[in-house]
Amino acid sequence: MRKKIFESFLEPIIILSLFFFFYACATVPLTGRKQLDLVPDSQLNTMSYQEYSSVIGKAKLSTDQEKVNMVRRVGNRIAAASENLLEEKGLGSEIKNYKWEFNLIQDDKTVNAWCMPGGKVAVYTGLLPVTRDETGLAVVVGHEVAHAIAKHGAERMSQGLLTQLGGIGLAVAMSTQPAATQSIFMQAYGVGTQVGVLLPYSRLHESEADHIGLILMAKAGYDPRAAIPLWQRMNQQGGARPPELLSTHPAPESRIRDIQTLLPDAMKYYKPR
Ligand SMILES: [Zn+2]
Repeated sequence: MRKKIFESFLEPIIILSLFFFFYACATVPLTGRKQLDLVPDSQLNTMSYQEYSSVIGKAKLSTDQEKVNMVRRVGNRIAAASENLLEEKGLGSEIKNYKWEFNLIQDDKTVNAWCMPGGKVAVYTGLLPVTRDETGLAVVVGHEVAHAIAKHGAERMSQGLLTQLGGIGLAVAMSTQPAATQSIFMQAYGVGTQVGVLLPYSRLHESEADHIGLILMAKAGYDPRAAIPLWQRMNQQGGARPPELLSTHPAPESRIRDIQTLLPDAMKYYKPR
């Protein structure tokens, strides 16, 4: 009897630990960091596509065709580079179901861009004076796409499921606690609460996105050295309302220093077009 109680108590704990250890752990492509992953892409992307079409449906889209085309051109080159790169690393399946989409939202006051799971990207017109040209834009789009392929949002969502719902998987969470699950998604991606403004990523996520983003832009044929003047211009934005892109980053000088140390690696991927 005693043994039975012990076993029935211990068994779920052992199973849960094994689950987190072997199953619920993913590896970030290109940096190799282990991350908690309770959120299968198939389910997360379905949620993401719904949110994205709702955000884009409500937004005022830019009618400046030249700029819209530029955003899509840069976006498609970064997307192709991501696919080729992950394919070469034997990780092609990580993003092969992405349904890439790039939209330019008319909002000159918002210096921002983001990428939701499954490759759904929005750029705000307020970003373009700072990025100046295609290469500058590639720095930011590369950075945002890097957050998505490193599954930073999924990691935040997994942490939410773990701390708020006791670590159940997304499918179970959605079927048993749909409202709580929806609210965890909102917290992880920030959409809905304040349209288009994502919660800041952690510093770890920001540095990782800088690293992967430089490689992506280089692979797409954009000179990654442009990242330094781009972030310098971004830092000068400051003022009453600093750009969201800077919100959680360490001091600008240390970001630029970090980028300088990452550049030699990124340059290996760079072939000018
Ligand atoms: Zn970021």
